[in-house]
Amino acid sequence: MLTGLDIYSPVEQIHDPLFEEKKVEVFIKRDDMIHPFISGNKWRKLKYILAHASSEKKKHLVTFGGAFSNHLIATACAAAKFGFKSTGIVRGEEVQNDVLMICKLFGMSLLFIDRSSYRDKHDLFNTHFSNDPEAIFIDEGGAGELGVKGCSELVTELNEKYDHLFCAAGTGTTAAGIIKGVQKNFVSAKVHVIPVLKSGTFLEKEIQKYTDRSFEFHPEYHFGGYAKSTPELISFVKYFCRSTGILIEPIYTGKMFWALYDLLRKDKFPAGSKILAIHTGGLTGILGMSSRMA
Ligand SMILES: *Cc1c(COP(=O)(O)O)cnc(C)c1O
Repeated sequence: MLTGLDIYSPVEQIHDPLFEEKKVEVFIKRDDMIHPFISGNKWRKLKYILAHASSEKKKHLVTFGGAFSNHLIATACAAAKFGFKSTGIVRGEEVQNDVLMICKLFGMSLLFIDRSSYRDKHDLFNTHFSNDPEAIFIDEGGAGELGVKGCSELVTELNEKYDHLFCAAGTGTTAAGIIKGVQKNFVSAKVHVIPVLKSGTFLEKEIQKYTDRSFEFHPEYHFGGYAKSTPELISFVKYFCRSTGILIEPIYTGKMFWALYDLLRKDKFPAGSKILAIHTGGLTGILGMSSRMA
């Protein structure tokens, strides 16, 4: 069994003239405080994946991501912390950057794979690791049933009642976990999912594979696609950071909070509403945006 999995993720209230004007209370679930590198939802997603790897006597975590992937850093750090080897299969031509540098510091081996071969991850795993009986496949982003299970636990940590929960979505695993948690714990909150990539209805369907509970899907806040941004989004992220003292980034949490503020401005929530936004962490992702943040 793995030990050392207890986490600290408090809820705190944040303030803004907009919240006062609309007479709502906004809180933030600080999953970014779980760990600086095994951050936020990545910790929750890895929890049962690592337990499974350990029970299967696997000692080598093999996973996938882009060159600025929060999941790669999280897996590299978790591998080091819990005594696994790790390999990160990185999409695209060989590059060096701060995120990959941190992955290597945590002992991760990196394998750069061109974009077309990268599409078939199981095939890549079989090609490179079929002769390593200790290797275990972990999907990009920690996606899948075990990740959903880990994320659903967030809901059991809530001591207050909220009317609305907000969560950013990449693969949708975290959102599916939150929705499942809400369903299982008979929580009445409505869950709002903000996809950060241009997904159409694909992501909505992905989430529906895990749960039949309804949720609010807001596909209009992707800002042109994954890791795309606008000067307005960057200004908003800066405003949020300096007015709350809580760091967010433009890839995930910036888009989620933008959506929350926008829906508030459009009077989507009645006075008296209590809203909880989930800070899914992943602040190292900002290292890939530094020129745009300047
Ligand atoms: C990876 C990540 C997400 C996306 O989570 P999914 O479970 O893939 O939807 C959201 N927020 C942050 C900060 C992340 O790093």
